[in-house]
Amino acid sequence: MKYTKHYSTKRTPQAQKIPGRENDQAQNNAGGVSFVLDKWKMLDRFLILGSEGGTFYVGEQKLTIENASNAVKCIAEDGIRVVDRVVEISTEGRAPKNDPALFVLALCSCEDFANMETRNHAFDQLSKVARIGTHLFHYVDFCTDLRGWGRGLKKAVSNWYLEKDIDRLAFQITKYQKRDGWSHKDVISLAHPKPETVLQNEIFQYITTEGERKPRNEFINAVDIVKHPNIDEKNTLELVEKYNLPMEVVPTDKRTPKMYERVLHNGAGLTWIMRNLGNLTRHGIISNGKWDNVEFVRNRLEDENQLAKARLHPLQILVALRTYASGGGMRGKNTWIPNPDIIEALDNSFYKAFKFVEPTGKRYLLGIDVSGSMTFETIAGLPITPAEAAAAQAMVTYKTEERVVPMAFAGDFRRLGMSRNQRLDDVLNDTYAMSFGNTDCALPMLYAKQENIDVDVFVVLTDNETWYGDVHPIQALQDYRRTSGIEDAKLVVVGMTGTRYSIADPRDPSTLDVVGFDTATPQIISQFAIGDI
Ligand code: CA
Repeated sequence: MKYTKHYSTKRTPQAQKIPGRENDQAQNNAGGVSFVLDKWKMLDRFLILGSEGGTFYVGEQKLTIENASNAVKCIAEDGIRVVDRVVEISTEGRAPKNDPALFVLALCSCEDFANMETRNHAFDQLSKVARIGTHLFHYVDFCTDLRGWGRGLKKAVSNWYLEKDIDRLAFQITKYQKRDGWSHKDVISLAHPKPETVLQNEIFQYITTEGERKPRNEFINAVDIVKHPNIDEKNTLELVEKYNLPMEVVPTDKRTPKMYERVLHNGAGLTWIMRNLGNLTRHGIISNGKWDNVEFVRNRLEDENQLAKARLHPLQILVALRTYASGGGMRGKNTWIPNPDIIEALDNSFYKAFKFVEPTGKRYLLGIDVSGSMTFETIAGLPITPAEAAAAQAMVTYKTEERVVPMAFAGDFRRLGMSRNQRLDDVLNDTYAMSFGNTDCALPMLYAKQENIDVDVFVVLTDNETWYGDVHPIQALQDYRRTSGIEDAKLVVVGMTGTRYSIADPRDPSTLDVVGFDTATPQIISQFAIGDI
């Protein structure tokens, strides 16, 4: 009897735990066995990817509970560290959505989970994480579901209003008026901010009387005039230009082509521009041949400083690119003929929205998981599947580095026609077309061995729900190191869903977990590749 046929540390089917590693591994959602992610790493995944929509295997409710309980464990261990992590990821614009950060900050504001030191720290950081009125409403909504309106919360929310200068306050309360069933009037009546100046007092009165008592503030007065039904287009355009009014304060029936053009050149933020590329094209503002406007928009979309300042996230840009390139669907009046120059600008913008990376010169193999589970549901609640997102994320390393073999896998190898010059909407379409089937995350390493490819760094983009193979990914990596002679071949696992599983071995310093669509991920991968972390 060859006992090691059934009990080997070098070759274990993915349905079983590796002998000796029983405490580090657990059954994943697909019924295979993975390593269990460290709770701080899981917190990072949640802050960046959230739990909206759930995954192929786990519903939104269960995934949210798992992640919230994990966050609560982190808060119990070191609440200050959690608050600081929330602030870091939120202020650096590393996540496609700010909601998970606001939710975890709300958990840190709650007596049931956090000590007084943590709560005070969370309150102090509120304005950094809740940067606009909409964020404040989200936070207030979460807090109201988690705790009562005690002194600490009232003071923190009051400070949100009181510490802004008057112009900024006027802008915030007019641009972001309502969200999640909350208005500024509701929030103020619970928080009771005590005005410190006459002008503040006037603005609070304006809020609580729902606009009946007018403040001495030209911006707010202009907003009120624009809303008036009798004011004509000429006067509205003048006010928009004079006060840089955002489109949000212009009533829908006054959003004419001329108004779009004026707002574009005056009040428009980069986020608004990106969301309105279809409208701007449909109204003829940036359609083919409108050279000056197209150049204006291109320059803004491709300006790294502006992208960083607006915290425009590459995943949002990817969604905008796909939507824009589609022309807005088959039917209805909201369609447009996409301008190829704008598509190209979005394609460039995507890469610029990641933190800048210097090429490392290392040899990479990019393994993109295109199994069935990667095609179900969305990433971070945006209309992109994890498989598509993985392919787009892989393109960042592919375009940065010279020595790269991209490959796709499910339960078998898939032909991947990816090229460096391919436009992202084509990459997404190709990926979508080849995605289905079982999952064997050992395949990137097995492929490199089979094809005799020298690899310094394996980058595997996956949901980590591996189950199909007869050898664990870490064992395939160890085997590759032995047979190739590249003894320090590294493995970076890019987690594309907010679960607690990973194929990276927490005990192996040459493996690393990072989060898909963290804007810092390409930078972390290259630092790890050259041994800086
Ligand atoms: Ca799968």
